Amino acid sequence: MKRTVTCTVCPNGCEIGIEYNTKEDAVLNGYGCKRGVSYALDECFEPKRTFTSSVKISGSDRRVLPVRTTKPIPKSILMKAAKEVEGISLKAPIKCGEVIENDFLNTKAKLIATMTLEGENA
Ligand code: SF4
Repeated sequence: MKRTVTCTVCPNGCEIGIEYNTKEDAVLNGYGCKRGVSYALDECFEPKRTFTSSVKISGSDRRVLPVRTTKPIPKSILMKAAKEVEGISLKAPIKCGEVIENDFLNTKAKLIATMTLEGENA
């Protein structure tokens, strides 16, 4: 199989060519550094994405709070992640960066708030 992957690890955006049958026999070209090799291999064999969403919040003038994971999680569980956050309900105040779940879906990524919301009486 042949693929081209655009590396998003740094602004250089190297176009990495990858030819493979298995991860072990993959041949890569076009990468500017080793980080691109692991990015391209991950993208072909176990793609990951940073998960962003919002959760319900009460006690604030907003009804939802934006959240994200602190690192990319497997792309294959993004739908499960969306279902998981539907069940989360928080109460203001909450600070930007505050941890909502420590080991989100057993991925070792934290789920954190990406906005500070004061309580209604603040
Ligand atoms: S391969 Fe290296 S230099 Fe190229 S975009 Fe990825 S991180 Fe940047």
